[in-house]
Amino acid sequence: MADRSNGSSERVTYCRICEPLCGMVATVDDGRLTKLRPDAEHPLSKGFACPKGIAMTDVHNDPDRVLHPLKRTEAGELERVSWEEALDDIGTRLGRIRERRGGDAIGWYMGNPGAFSYSHPLWVKGFLDAVGSPHYYTASAQDVSNRFAASALLYGSPFLLPIPDLSRTDFLLIVGANPLVSHGSVLTAPRIKDDLHAIVARGGRVVVVDPRRSETASAFEHVAVHPDSDAWLLLSLLQVVFDEGLEDAEAIARQSRGIDSLREMVAEQAPEATEQRTGVAASEVRQLARDLAGAERAAVYGRTGSCLGRNGTLVSFLLDALNVVTGNLDREGGAMFGDPPIDFDDVARKIGLGTYGSVRTRIGDLPDVLGQLPASVMAKEITTPGEGQIRALFVSAGNPVLSVPNGDELEAALGELDLMVAIDLYVSDTARHADYVLPATTFLEREDFPLPFLGLHTTPFAQWTEPVVEPAGEARQEWEIIDAISRRIGVAPYSARALRNLARVGVRISPKRLLDILLRTGPGGDLFGLRRRGLNIGKIARNPHGIVLAEHLAAGVLPKKIRHRGKRVRLDPPEIVEEAARLAAQNGRRADFPLRLIGLRELRSHNSWMHNAPLLMRGGRTHAARVHPDDAAAVGLEDGGVVRVSSPHGAIELEALLTDEVKRGTVAVPHGWGHRGGWRLAVKAGGANVNQLASSNPDDLEPLAGMAFLNGIPIRIEAVAARTRSREAAAVSS
Ligand code: SF4
Repeated sequence: MADRSNGSSERVTYCRICEPLCGMVATVDDGRLTKLRPDAEHPLSKGFACPKGIAMTDVHNDPDRVLHPLKRTEAGELERVSWEEALDDIGTRLGRIRERRGGDAIGWYMGNPGAFSYSHPLWVKGFLDAVGSPHYYTASAQDVSNRFAASALLYGSPFLLPIPDLSRTDFLLIVGANPLVSHGSVLTAPRIKDDLHAIVARGGRVVVVDPRRSETASAFEHVAVHPDSDAWLLLSLLQVVFDEGLEDAEAIARQSRGIDSLREMVAEQAPEATEQRTGVAASEVRQLARDLAGAERAAVYGRTGSCLGRNGTLVSFLLDALNVVTGNLDREGGAMFGDPPIDFDDVARKIGLGTYGSVRTRIGDLPDVLGQLPASVMAKEITTPGEGQIRALFVSAGNPVLSVPNGDELEAALGELDLMVAIDLYVSDTARHADYVLPATTFLEREDFPLPFLGLHTTPFAQWTEPVVEPAGEARQEWEIIDAISRRIGVAPYSARALRNLARVGVRISPKRLLDILLRTGPGGDLFGLRRRGLNIGKIARNPHGIVLAEHLAAGVLPKKIRHRGKRVRLDPPEIVEEAARLAAQNGRRADFPLRLIGLRELRSHNSWMHNAPLLMRGGRTHAARVHPDDAAAVGLEDGGVVRVSSPHGAIELEALLTDEVKRGTVAVPHGWGHRGGWRLAVKAGGANVNQLASSNPDDLEPLAGMAFLNGIPIRIEAVAARTRSREAAAVSS
């Protein structure tokens, strides 16, 4: 921290909007955040930050930000109340609900930004465990749960997540990811653009499988696949590897079991047999399989695009299976595992957080993943009577009305609750339905540590940050709010029984104290002085730009990390064999909905929460559907005209952007638009809620992780009018 005599100072911190966790320097003038700039001294991001990170100043100082507790009046307005009044009333009403209906009548939805706080998710889960409720919902079921589910099936642990060794690979196959815009997901590599170009510069290749010629696909080699056909493509790649004897038999024998089942699963799926489904020429698939298997060091990596189809867990499984059979798992330049200073997998398992399928939803019989249930069924869990019906719902850092399928259904369900509390920066499209809106701090007003991402850094790394400014207004950290509510209903918000027992004798542990204990007793810890070079929070904090813990990830760690008995990767889970059979029986074609909808990431959006930042909305940004010119011509749609996009579940209208970057038959629409909350600029920007086109019917969800089907939805389009670019395109429900 550098203080200047004029009341201005610079404070080192890091961005917590997305996974690169770029180093930032905050300028604070007289206690107020005035500027954020990239931290040139950060060892990994080295002066990089994207527009969202810089624009966080706008969010932080937003005049629409909630800075005081708000309570809904009899007249339906939100009015300012004191923290004491809000917390006392919430505690009383919650206590009553718990007494009458049980702890399992209380639910919680935590949005994506919550995962970037080291304390928020632990306190939410601890609170629900303390009251005895399984109703924990997060944004994961809209973007990542099946990655964890696949790991549970493959490795016996949902937290064991392979990441590509970007700095040493010769061949990177990317399926359904656009890291030049997303900057990486389930992967922390702040200079990922440079990393990808470096692969090519050293003679390697980067191949991108995507229905859209995304920014990443444009920069490297592109395989244009039909939406929601990744499973077929991966089955065919495996079929060629086996059929042509390209597998690494030694690695397979050493690392895995169940190879015969996998061979059988793919045997009929030669590229010629799947060509129609994938839209990729059989010869191209054959060559890709040969090149991948023949590369000295290769890694297969897939993300959100590969997760949101009808068979996402199967796709995640097949991505890793390709790494195994080509001998690229757990080796330099391949798909490797992090070795973090806190063994989060071990800790989570011990306190019951690392679960998969340990509870199932009342509606739809869908499994939990990491204790989190599919948010797509949350509305029905509220409206369906019976034991375990949700009567009180907390929503923190989340906007499920815009992020889960069928937001209209959820909005209606929220009105049936006995109590709804939102903890947020804004009166969002979801928070506007709450009985109370409680002001949360931004990440710049809280201390932090990248706990969930420690094992996802391609270069092992740790950084501690203090808050750079005091909370604005009366904002409080989420864990503090949870603790205050917990006290009012007589529980201690901890998942670990030992901590709940300690609370009974008056000792409530803080997040910082808990983290320090985990760090000091972890594999990289100082064991309270017994290990001289070990870590503790103080030591990390003395290096404000963070500490690089090793130059590279270590290879050969799989045997000590895998949780299956026999220490082998399981290539024959019955769930996956069944899912492959389900895939074979699927027929996605519908004559009345001949096109397919996919999503996309925009550089200046982050899900639904950054559309109120002027810096990001400059230039009259609008919400637009990317439509292939041939598909547009077929319905008389012009560039800039309004297109009506209909699915079997709903319809929206928005502006059309004609482009051949999407494959013919594919329409791409970004999510997170169509605001109706108390954020004025976001509302003014217009657009439509694309998730109105998705189904929340449990039968339409992916069965192994309960994830929403958001990529590949059958749709049709119609030209509404030949209007020029307009912001009036709006959501219409059917
Ligand atoms: S890529 Fe942008 S939003 Fe993501 S962490 Fe870096 S600066 Fe923040």
